[in-house]
Amino acid sequence: MDKKKKEVPCPICDKTGVPVETLTVEQMVKEELVDKVSVDDHWLCMSEECEVSYYTGSGTKFNKEDIKVPLWFKKDADPKYACYCNNITEEQVIDAVANKGLGNMRDIIVSINGKARIRCKTNNPTGKRCTKVFSEAIKKGMDIKNKGERI
Ligand SMILES: [Zn+2]
Repeated sequence: MDKKKKEVPCPICDKTGVPVETLTVEQMVKEELVDKVSVDDHWLCMSEECEVSYYTGSGTKFNKEDIKVPLWFKKDADPKYACYCNNITEEQVIDAVANKGLGNMRDIIVSINGKARIRCKTNNPTGKRCTKVFSEAIKKGMDIKNKGERI
């Protein structure tokens, strides 16, 4: 039962989140709360309905309002970012795919921002690459485009 990293459930919804590096948490929480970030392992609660963002096993807990950006997987996320490094929303990706015929992450980012930056470690709330969420948005755009062509 003992794994390398002990799983810690969210103090509110009791579901186990994903581990996130302290560096990422420090970048994400609002300035006035940075001092509350401890050296303990941090977890990000992935429950759509739960108010919690980061938490630790030692009682530290941040709500989704305590961080600088909306978490895309929480309900009512506004805007819903597909790429946190370039501030691109799911809506913009869907538009680029469905209406401008783009289908590649880099092309979409460049078409919107002029250049592509990769800063997932400090800009994405998970500290991981934005690629997965971005791909899902591309897929949604493709679905809309394909349906449109069939009419
Ligand atoms: Zn939770």
